[in-house]
Amino acid sequence: MLTCSTVSTGLVRLLGDLCAPPLCPLCRAALALGPAELCPDCQAALPQLPERRCHGCGGANTGHLALCPECLHLGARPWNFAVSAFPFHGLVRDAVHCYKYRRRTSLAPFLARCMTEAWTAHAEDRRLDAVVPVPLHWLRAWQRGYNQAAILSRLIANKLQVNNMTPLRRVRYTRQQARMDLAQRQKNIHRAFAVVNRAAVKNQRLLLVDDVFTTGATLAAATTALLDAGAAGVAVLTIARD
Ligand SMILES: [Zn+2]
Ligand SMILES: [Zn+2]
Repeated sequence: MLTCSTVSTGLVRLLGDLCAPPLCPLCRAALALGPAELCPDCQAALPQLPERRCHGCGGANTGHLALCPECLHLGARPWNFAVSAFPFHGLVRDAVHCYKYRRRTSLAPFLARCMTEAWTAHAEDRRLDAVVPVPLHWLRAWQRGYNQAAILSRLIANKLQVNNMTPLRRVRYTRQQARMDLAQRQKNIHRAFAVVNRAAVKNQRLLLVDDVFTTGATLAAATTALLDAGAAGVAVLTIARD
């Protein structure tokens, strides 16, 4: 039963939360910067990609060509180009892990800001009609409680002032791909996506958002579904390139 004392305890706690300093979404240190940022120590410890990047995967490119050796070896990707905010190691790996598997959704505003900045700095062509998240199968979304790519997609669309669109569905439940090689991933993800609203996608320039670019098999399957539905072109934006 709701009593005066439980209401007042709740009010005191709420006031305490409102007065408490915001915490770093990664290490929980008190923040002077504002709730959407990481603390200075965490920011300084984030690994960075070099200025010269591969247009095929968004990762570092040490060669002289536009594509890194891995993308050259794989041949054509279905998207026009890819951008990533970070390399996938060190504190970025920890941050993605907290965000994706440990419900630390308070990291989303910081990650979305970094992704938007990477896009603005490294996109080959910034003309865009809508941002699209890579969807989770409903069963995995239900288990996790949220789709990590969809939260980022909404924030990024808002920053870039374009539509956020969710035309893709996972039509097959696919196994976790963490320990699979590229051939296994391609087989696992083949025809896993369908476009439920083809009219919305037709002739649109889309930015496909996901968390980590590993082999690109998932992003390729999602991109192919969008292009088959009539999208004018697809670019890819991820938090990190593995
Ligand atoms: Zn921190
Ligand atoms: Zn590459």
